[in-house]
Amino acid sequence: MRLAEQGLEPTPEHYRQAYLAASPQGARRAAADARADAGLPSDAALQELGPMLARFVREWERSQAGVSRIHKLQALQGLEAAERPAQALELLRTTTERWAALRDRSVPSPAASSAPEVPAQAPAAASAWKRLWLDAVRMAEQAYASQPDIQSQARELLADAAELDELGAGFSTQAQALWDACEQRIGDDERVSSAALESMRLLLDNLAELFDPRHWMQAQIEALREVLRAPVQLPRLEQAVQALKDLLVRQGVLRKAGDDARALARELIDMVVRSLGNYVESSERYGERLRAGMRELDESGDWQRAKSVVQGILAQSQQMLQQTRQLRLSFADAQQQLQQARERTSALEGEIEQLSELIQQDPLTGALNRRGLAVSFRREASRAERSGEALSLAMVDLDLFKSINDNFGHDTGDAVLRELVQVLRSELRPTDLVARMGGEEFLVVLPGQDEQGALRALQRVQEVFAARRFPHPRQRDGIRSCFSAGVARWSPGEALEAAYGRADQALLRAKQAGRQRIELAAQPPAQA
Ligand code: GH3
Ligand code: MG
Ligand code: MG
Repeated sequence: MRLAEQGLEPTPEHYRQAYLAASPQGARRAAADARADAGLPSDAALQELGPMLARFVREWERSQAGVSRIHKLQALQGLEAAERPAQALELLRTTTERWAALRDRSVPSPAASSAPEVPAQAPAAASAWKRLWLDAVRMAEQAYASQPDIQSQARELLADAAELDELGAGFSTQAQALWDACEQRIGDDERVSSAALESMRLLLDNLAELFDPRHWMQAQIEALREVLRAPVQLPRLEQAVQALKDLLVRQGVLRKAGDDARALARELIDMVVRSLGNYVESSERYGERLRAGMRELDESGDWQRAKSVVQGILAQSQQMLQQTRQLRLSFADAQQQLQQARERTSALEGEIEQLSELIQQDPLTGALNRRGLAVSFRREASRAERSGEALSLAMVDLDLFKSINDNFGHDTGDAVLRELVQVLRSELRPTDLVARMGGEEFLVVLPGQDEQGALRALQRVQEVFAARRFPHPRQRDGIRSCFSAGVARWSPGEALEAAYGRADQALLRAKQAGRQRIELAAQPPAQA
């Protein structure tokens, strides 16, 4: 009847629809079908929604074995892309169930910072790339040990990578984020250190103005300024810190001596004031008695009385004289003590002045002295031992220098010495060390250079130095000078004296072979 009313043909489908429309269960099913057709979730699915969302969030937070952050982000994209709500809900359910079925991932402990090993089955080239990537990430993790955010980002990346066979596009996006964070931090670090340097320079400039130009602090301030001149180098900075520490210790000693001298002076002044007070008091009393005695003398005609008055006056004068003498003595004593204290302080000050300049420097040439060399060499040797880089020494000695002194005077000789150090400094690397070992002998330390590199560097110095001319009234074209040198490559563990001895032997050969030459040293005995 309904089919007839609606003018529908008696097909099975039309019968079904007519039946559903007539029965109550049918009406419900029809509504469900209509919702399903519209892509809306079923009632049952909606009932589950709350707990399912909670589970999803828990699984999102959990670290599952085999699910990387990239996988999770991909799942999120899938959810966003779902066209119908029912589809999204189904995806949510299956994803949550899939993740829930996985065990926890074993997170690398912070103590063992290295990530799980890369799977061995990866193809050779890909695994080499992967290893390279992971090494870079590991570097970031270690370099930013003090930055928890970068560190955890790097750890996560390492853990993800360990479970992926191939590093896909997602990995590089994640790595890019890590590098961006690192770069930002590097920028911050650079800004911090340049601001620190700037404030240090300002401080030094202002400090310098506080002292007399000849004050020994000026030399220290100048040395520090030199170190802070761009580009700042770590070895020189460390050297400056050491020198500053030495200086502070000595300044402490000086301050103590100054305090002692001041305390003594205060005591003495106190004593002098007290003695003067006593003296003034008794001299006033003396004056009164004298005046009284005079009056009595004027008035009295009695000889006996006059005699006793005069005797009294004489006795008092004697006493006064004694007191004056004593006062003068104690003044002299105080003066002497004060003078001694002053001498002690100024001797200390002179000593400090010398020490602070000589701590590590030769005053004539500004090169390191032996002590400075020992300190710097220890540092360079241990650095070379750690890094496995080469380290070489060169012993340099001016040729026939005595004749320059003899013929043109000591001042010209001094100028030649200074110039040699100047040329060594300008031709060698800023990190190379130049030390005066005495007279006209210098030791050069060349970090990062093997004997051939050191030889080339010294030849360059030789060329520049030999072309220099030192003016002298008796020498129209100026005086020339040159040097001989012996080069030795330091061998790890070798004492400075041993390496220096080998370089010295090579220097001797250079002299014997006619001077203005550079010779290579023999290998140390253990390696020969
Ligand atoms: P050789 O080529 O064999 O090294 O000959 P030399 O003349 O350079 O060597 P020698 O050891 O005979 O002489 C070194 C001279 O260096 C002797 C000394 O007067 C001079 N000398 C040492 N210290 C100083 C200094 O501080 N200033 C000056 N002007 N001369 C110095
Ligand atoms: Mg010489
Ligand atoms: Mg010599």
